[in-house]
Amino acid sequence: MSFFNNLIVSTVQAMPKPIVGFFSKKYIAGDYLDEAIDVVKEFNSKNILATMDVLGESVTNKSEVEEAKKQFLDVLDGINDNKLNANISVKPSQMGILLDRQYGVNTIKDLVARAAGYNNFVRIDMEDATTTDLTFELLAELKKEYSNVGVVVQACLKRTYDDVVLLNKAGTNYRLCKGIYNESPAIAYKGKQQIRDNYMKILELMLKNGNYVGIATHDEYLINKAKELIEKLNIPRDKFEFQMLLGVRADLRNKINKEGYKIRIYVPYGIDWYPYSIRRLKENPQMAGHIFKALFGF
Ligand SMILES: Cc1cc2nc3c(=O)[nH]c(=O)nc-3n(C[C@H](O)[C@H](O)[C@H](O)COP(=O)(O)OP(=O)(O)OC[C@H]3O[C@@H](n4cnc5c(N)ncnc54)[C@H](O)[C@@H]3O)c2cc1C
Repeated sequence: MSFFNNLIVSTVQAMPKPIVGFFSKKYIAGDYLDEAIDVVKEFNSKNILATMDVLGESVTNKSEVEEAKKQFLDVLDGINDNKLNANISVKPSQMGILLDRQYGVNTIKDLVARAAGYNNFVRIDMEDATTTDLTFELLAELKKEYSNVGVVVQACLKRTYDDVVLLNKAGTNYRLCKGIYNESPAIAYKGKQQIRDNYMKILELMLKNGNYVGIATHDEYLINKAKELIEKLNIPRDKFEFQMLLGVRADLRNKINKEGYKIRIYVPYGIDWYPYSIRRLKENPQMAGHIFKALFGF
């Protein structure tokens, strides 16, 4: 990344909110469930699956959690009523796990129970490294009663390979991503190729063990390597899917879909779009140019 791009990335949080909103529109399906349902219907009509997320993360009290839970239950009902091919992705912090651990576990259990009634699935998103152990404990607790739940692991973390060795023993449905949170070099790989190498090492471990894996990346290098590995190991198509974010690399998404692979798009919606948008903008290699033009009229 150029010096200029780095500068913009480090100052994006100081950008006026309307500018952040303008550039993050493409990453978000809308403010309300109806809009997200329309986006998912459109994907489904092209044989593309979805995972739906009600945006929001840093809740400060239980009434905010209850509101978020209600919205996720509405999403599950909406998926069922509209016969969508979609599941949900949930952040443990949004469900109150950091406010009150048992309350958070019970809240997520209610979502998993509703999903189970619909024969649907809940993906537990992974947040920053202070929550990794808690998230795995949550998963273990949910799996005592339900099988329609899976977790996310992050290839940037040095611990993840060992975590997957343990999680494999319990039979786990994974999403494997690079990891978006800015972790310290003491616990995380920082080099682009180092993270890619770890991603492939972990993916091989997951697939060889027969786990279902959501291969979540827009990195064409990793997507090609994953396809090669799947071919080499002769992994059946019902044991993996590719996953991408709404608004990112639509060209690549369509190519993967045309090649006949299963692909799922992360479709977030909601009025609490700001933190999610900041993360996405920081990852966008073209962002600096766009924002510069918007601010200075070039
Ligand atoms: C379905 C899904 C779910 C995820 N869930 C989690 C999670 O639970 N926890 C977590 O920590 N992380 C999650 N992530 C984010 C992930 O960890 C990465 O931060 C993100 O996917 C970028 O990494 P990459 O593998 O796409 O590679 P990169 O090297 O970052 O990107 C590869 C290429 O994709 C394009 N690209 C990537 N991001 C953008 C963008 N925002 N705008 C425009 N172009 C872009 C660029 O062309 C870039 O060169 C998820 C990602 C996906 C796809």
